[in-house]
Amino acid sequence: MDKQYCGYVSIIGKPNVGKSTIINSLLDKKVSITSRKSQTTRNNIIGFKTKKNKQMILIDTPGMHIKSQRTMNKILNKSAQSIIEDTDIILLVLQRLAFEKEDELIIQKIKNTNQKTICIINKIDQIEKKNKLLPFIEKLASFNLFDEILPISAKTKDGINQLEMLIMKYLPENRHIYSESDLMLMIDKDCEFMISELIREKIIRKLGDELPHDIFVEIDMFDEKNNLTEIHATIFVNRKSQKQIVIGSNGQILKSIGTEARIEVEKYLDKKVFLKTWVKVKKNWNTDSGFINSLGVGNNHESK
Ligand code: GDP
Ligand code: MG
Repeated sequence: MDKQYCGYVSIIGKPNVGKSTIINSLLDKKVSITSRKSQTTRNNIIGFKTKKNKQMILIDTPGMHIKSQRTMNKILNKSAQSIIEDTDIILLVLQRLAFEKEDELIIQKIKNTNQKTICIINKIDQIEKKNKLLPFIEKLASFNLFDEILPISAKTKDGINQLEMLIMKYLPENRHIYSESDLMLMIDKDCEFMISELIREKIIRKLGDELPHDIFVEIDMFDEKNNLTEIHATIFVNRKSQKQIVIGSNGQILKSIGTEARIEVEKYLDKKVFLKTWVKVKKNWNTDSGFINSLGVGNNHESK
């Protein structure tokens, strides 16, 4: 039998550099995996992609969904080691021609590791003076830290194929962990967006002026079982006080938001839905310890 290659890939970088967009373009679609093999204890797998004898498994890096730089730094300080040790390949994402203090901090974290590191310069579609790109690449190369430096645009997909080829190239020799039957359901981005908007609408309708409208909802899992679709969603608020408002006393508010949203989502999907919601504070975590360990407050909304 052919040799098989398989490895874990993590992605780090400052907020807004395009990490999620890159993952989405690498994976084509967002996937959720239900049947986990006993050989892996991971629970932070975003998806995998198999091409012939090579399989890359993308894992969720703490801080990846965080849009606050301070929080990101904090998470990096706490968990950079585990991000690094747990993965075979690290993708460090920069944007345009910027290499900043925060990037320096990340670099310090990955300096003394044996992991393969690919430095991605994203958003090259937004670089006006293209002749500045080469000197920037040379500067990054002079750190002697990256196995590869690759300019891409996740938005226009320019360079995404090359990125995939580079990742495949650095995968270690291992048996594949996932087979196609582990890929239960693909949820396309429009569907994910619709569901998060349905939930958001219920929150705003219920709480109106009590909350700023910049709360957002992320779908963490979408899993279609026989006749029940299980969806996990995280509601992000700005402050701890808002988290309490969304939850309500004894969780009553969150419960009714969840129930109403679940009914709407069932109509939209035309399927029975089990909706699990969490509320998390997306900012000001610097005053609160244990972001990563915190699961927030949960609630289940089952079809009766
Ligand atoms: P993350 O915080 O690192 O996960 O960043 P996101 O993936 O959420 O992207 C942040 C913003 O940058 C979004 O508005 C994306 O649409 C945008 N973006 C991502 N990649 C590109 C790119 O290659 N070019 C341009 N012009 N915008 C991009
Ligand atoms: Mg993101």
